[in-house]
Amino acid sequence: MIEVAEALEQMLKHATPRAAVGLPLLDAVGCHAAREVLATVALPGFDNSAMDGYTVRAAEAVRGTRLRVVDEQAAGVDRGLRLPAASAIRVYTGAPIPEGADAVVMQEDVERVGDEIVIHDDLATGQFIRRKGSDVCAGQVLVRRGDLITAARAGLLASQGRAQVDVIAAPRAGLLSTGDELVPPGQPLHPGQIYNSNAVMLSAMLRECGVREVTALHCGDEISATQDALSSLFDRSDVVLLSGGVSVGDRDQVKPALKALGFSIELWRIKMKPGKPFVFATGEWKGETKLVFGLPGNPVSAYATFRVLVQPVLERLRGGTGQSGSREVRLGETVVNDGDRPHYVRGRVVDGVFWPQGLQRSDALFGLSQSDALLRVEVGEKLEAGMLRQALS
Ligand code: AMP
Ligand code: MG
Repeated sequence: MIEVAEALEQMLKHATPRAAVGLPLLDAVGCHAAREVLATVALPGFDNSAMDGYTVRAAEAVRGTRLRVVDEQAAGVDRGLRLPAASAIRVYTGAPIPEGADAVVMQEDVERVGDEIVIHDDLATGQFIRRKGSDVCAGQVLVRRGDLITAARAGLLASQGRAQVDVIAAPRAGLLSTGDELVPPGQPLHPGQIYNSNAVMLSAMLRECGVREVTALHCGDEISATQDALSSLFDRSDVVLLSGGVSVGDRDQVKPALKALGFSIELWRIKMKPGKPFVFATGEWKGETKLVFGLPGNPVSAYATFRVLVQPVLERLRGGTGQSGSREVRLGETVVNDGDRPHYVRGRVVDGVFWPQGLQRSDALFGLSQSDALLRVEVGEKLEAGMLRQALS
């Protein structure tokens, strides 16, 4: 059996980030930038008003002064106005500042009397003017390589006039559910059969990891069917996930099928509970390297191995750091691990406190469905209520 950290290290060695691809900004959200992006234009692009009000010369606009409102400048079209002496120009938020003006007074801070305004308070030079380049100057680094394209970063890039950005392409995934007993949800169930819940759960987890192209297939516990399904997935995918068939049963065909297709089993059996029978294999398929993750069929084991072992590798393939996201939690109750493998306890974090949920059993989906974090408890460890720990979430 291999330690989780060692398994991760070995798998990450095989995870070379994928090629860059230019995507429309919206599609790029959630991806990592493939290269640095520099500002091509300053932001704001011109001096403009931060308020609805009047633009004036600060030195003339002392308390009690009356200034004649001689013109109006709205946002949208720069009329190329010039501010005459002892006067004001009506402006609106975002409007270009007329030449000669050096401050804006809010409309709430003046009294309008006919075509004049009366200034209530002295104002400072530059007041309520957003200077050209005060937020971003041309040439500035906007996004670094590897940065996640967030909604705000997409907005920043759009404000530069960009319609797309180069990001690391997400891998295409294949998902093979193995098992004679499986029936797709929505169809009738015969005695002894169960619904294939892993297919939807794992597809959803892939989607949450930014993998959008997922081809899902099912096959029974038969080696040639497993090989056929795997072959067609390798044709269309960069990574392939399998569920079930990785244990030691006579009907567990995943490893033999992979070997028959020329793949090498790099890892099998991980020191974790749930999730021990996890398999990692690699191989060449039509000139491309494919990564294969064989997850145990028990739903909670499939979930835990995906979260602990697959997600960091996908993260790395997508140009991220490959680190597992975790948060600090305080234990709500004492948790003991008297088993022989580190236990990933499923629990819910409420106001920073971790509460184990439901049956801690590898088939028990209900407790998992109530959980939003996994807490690793080492062999022989007793974590007392109130202790602080990091939990995967
Ligand atoms: P296996 O890893 O194939 O030995 O399966 C272990 C357990 O998980 C068995 O009880 C299977 O019926 C169950 N199982 C396997 N695949 C799935 C699946 N796709 N959805 C739900 N349960 C499954
Ligand atoms: Mg099976």
